[in-house]
Amino acid sequence: METNTERAAWLKGGTAVCDVPASPQTKPRRLVLLGAPGVGKGTQAELLCANLGTCHLSTGDIFRAAKCLNACERSPALSAALEYMRKGKLVPDETVLALVSERLNCLRCHGGFLLDGFPRTVAQAEALRKLLRSQRLRLDAVLSYELSLAKVVARLSGRRTCPGCKAVFHIKARAPRQEGICDHCGSKLYQREDDRPESIQVRMEAYEKSTAPLTDYYRNLKLLVTVPGEGSPEEIFACTMKALNDE
Ligand code: AMP
Repeated sequence: METNTERAAWLKGGTAVCDVPASPQTKPRRLVLLGAPGVGKGTQAELLCANLGTCHLSTGDIFRAAKCLNACERSPALSAALEYMRKGKLVPDETVLALVSERLNCLRCHGGFLLDGFPRTVAQAEALRKLLRSQRLRLDAVLSYELSLAKVVARLSGRRTCPGCKAVFHIKARAPRQEGICDHCGSKLYQREDDRPESIQVRMEAYEKSTAPLTDYYRNLKLLVTVPGEGSPEEIFACTMKALNDE
């Protein structure tokens, strides 16, 4: 299935349109992904989009794309948001909601959507619910990937990233052909500062604090679907599809 990986409408907002419009789906899926750093959410997002034809709507990607703009091309709110992001803090709800509201077309897209990184707080979840209701749309499910802290630490602390092409490896599970060197572009791999064990603990605590109320919120709405984050990406994907089809 052809997927829209450049996502211009989502990343740029405003009047930007996607080069490859989503193929209309008979049953477009409207999903939210939840999961702590290191559970493999990014890989599952790729597999889900490729199989369901939905678009991957990550709010973190909007901020990362905005980093590449010149200062004069960014709104004051976006510049302030990047400052929060740089400090590892959550961007204020109003800023995130303004960005998502500007991208209502992506939520209405006939290919469906896969929201990732949003909502991150109950206030954002409530705002999303209102936004969707105003468009007579509703979420099909909220997929929550779960993995023990020990396994998250093992995954993240073994992760190595390429500064050149951004490819991600793992010293055991996905080792590069030559130790410490990117298979694709030959750059020297590095360990992200926030993948060091001492930072992982802090990130996990922050995730638990902000996301636990969200899982309760969606459980109460009978939308929460929990998926164990154990096994290979293909095995986790098979579990995800089964859970979605059992809905
Ligand atoms: P992510 O790629 O989802 O981990 O997001 C990277 C960073 O972008 C986060 O650490 C936050 O600073 C910011 N961010 C992304 N999405 C949100 C959100 N929904 N609410 C607040 N901050 C966000």
